[in-house]
Amino acid sequence: MAKQAESKSLQKLANLRRQHKSFINIMPLQTGGMLTEAAQKALVEFGDGYSVCDFCLGSLCNITNPPVREFAHELLPEFLGCEVATLTYGARDGIFMIMHSLAKPGGSIIVDGNRHYTTVVAAERVGLNVIGVPSSGYPEFKVDVNDYVSLIKKHNPKLILLTYPDGNYGNISDARRLGEIAQEYDIPYIVNGAYAVGRMPVNMEGLGADFIVGSGHKSMASAGPCGVLGMKRKWEEIVLRKSEAYGNKELESLGCTLRGTPLVTLMASFPYVKERVNHWDEQVSKAQWFSRELEKLSFKQLGETPHQHDLLHFETPALYDISKHVRERGYFLYKELKERGIWGPQPGLTKAFKLSTFAATKEQLQFVIDSFKAILNKYG
Ligand SMILES: *Cc1c(COP(=O)(O)O)cnc(C)c1O
Repeated sequence: MAKQAESKSLQKLANLRRQHKSFINIMPLQTGGMLTEAAQKALVEFGDGYSVCDFCLGSLCNITNPPVREFAHELLPEFLGCEVATLTYGARDGIFMIMHSLAKPGGSIIVDGNRHYTTVVAAERVGLNVIGVPSSGYPEFKVDVNDYVSLIKKHNPKLILLTYPDGNYGNISDARRLGEIAQEYDIPYIVNGAYAVGRMPVNMEGLGADFIVGSGHKSMASAGPCGVLGMKRKWEEIVLRKSEAYGNKELESLGCTLRGTPLVTLMASFPYVKERVNHWDEQVSKAQWFSRELEKLSFKQLGETPHQHDLLHFETPALYDISKHVRERGYFLYKELKERGIWGPQPGLTKAFKLSTFAATKEQLQFVIDSFKAILNKYG
């Protein structure tokens, strides 16, 4: 790199900014991970590397100052409805740890057809065959958990997994019924709650599951990368087994996980997150109202209707038609929304995209609806 170019690059690094900080945010990846004020404070307070390790005696979840022990051993299990909980780097890491502990290469796992790509990648890293339960397809893409039964009989899987809800359509499958099936066939059952834990009430035992994973940066108002993993007590000695060489270090986590800001933001936001799940009904009715309003503009909502989650997927042929005739092509929508202070669909998309109503107020969402209307009129 030439000297001058390098100096410019370094200057940029030292002045990082985000363009849309004060925008109305309806981007699904981001709406549940926005920090509380408490977490913002904790972020600065504990920003230095290894900051939570001041009083560590060798095991992260046993640190008493800051109170990680209370959080991981008492508050989290109660929140997740499980017996044992631990901290991970994210939902995918929890899923990988379970697969890697319980299954051997060549084994099988049965998952819903709407599973997240990380489930497949985790299985690949472990060497598992992934068998998908097909969804009903366009437009609702529903998964009938009763369809797991024939595949369980055929493939004798080591694990089954349900994405609850899935990250593409926001469909809520019958997780409790799958818990009954798991118990009947005695197969360990993972609930992937990346879009559930921290948004809506979810109780692992109540669903009859063996494991539940959540994502701190997706749904628990945390900086991340961080996540939570809950399980039945009987899996503790398998998934959280210790190293032979270092008796107080867990093997699956390579000895330790969250060593600073991700963890303190997760903890600082937890009182707020624990409370907010009680208002899930309001979130669902807000999402349903928003979806109805956008359908009036000719957008078509995919996934279950009426919808049961704030993650919404729309087909928007009218916007796509416009993109074919304007100079900016697909980026016209991003530009129009940006001018109005809205951060939503992935820049470049116009044909179909996902939105989340979780973080925005009804007034803000009304503004989003009016903006879509104005954009359609402007080019119509
Ligand atoms: C976002 C997402 C993940 C990945 O979560 P991480 O915490 O980033 O690993 C996994 N599953 C689903 C359904 C998701 O939406």
